[in-house]
Amino acid sequence: MIQGPDEIIACPHCGALHRRRTVLSGNTFGAEVWTDGWSWAPMLPQPPLISRCTRCSRFFWVGRAECLGELESVIAASGLQVQRLSIPNDWKAAPHVQPPDEAGWLEAIAQGLAKERDEERELRIQAWWEGNMPYRRDTPWVPFSQRAQAARDNLRALQTLCSPKEPTQRLLKAEALREEERFEDALGALAGELPKELQWVADTLRALAQQGISEVRRLSKSAAPRPANS
Ligand SMILES: [Zn+2]
Repeated sequence: MIQGPDEIIACPHCGALHRRRTVLSGNTFGAEVWTDGWSWAPMLPQPPLISRCTRCSRFFWVGRAECLGELESVIAASGLQVQRLSIPNDWKAAPHVQPPDEAGWLEAIAQGLAKERDEERELRIQAWWEGNMPYRRDTPWVPFSQRAQAARDNLRALQTLCSPKEPTQRLLKAEALREEERFEDALGALAGELPKELQWVADTLRALAQQGISEVRRLSKSAAPRPANS
């Protein structure tokens, strides 16, 4: 992975400066994908989708924030980074953007950050992923029936934002239903045609739902169940 120069961005609400990391080149080696769609590629780190401004405390879309410039210039071929000759002091002091925690994602929605349906779905997915984060390591699974009301409400609201016509959204809805222990509904959402490349994901979700398993799991193509018709 070759890290790019940090960019200086401005909070769209108050103009406070923040630092955004960039990647010049990376790859998906060692990437993980989970049943809820969360993925992580250690060699391809991405800046957070949104961040809370450290001055005005409001959330903003990191990728849409105005970029004022870069902290270093980069000789791309070698990846060598060269410090610019004159960097304003407030640039050097700018804090890195940080992703919200589960409550932060929900607060951003409450603040009205999402103007479109697609944006709200994106933020609700991120809140869901963040809430599932402890269970990707060693913490024993806690079903959604025992989670905080806000987390349950989020998962329900997310389902209403998933279109049955869009294959990945259908899978997300099925997974949300499975994590709510609504296994029959999850199987119903999985019924019908899906693109070939997503079939193994659907087969995995279906097998888990049929066994009455609600926990989030890491996906493995090689461990996916063989579909009944092959
Ligand atoms: Zn601000």
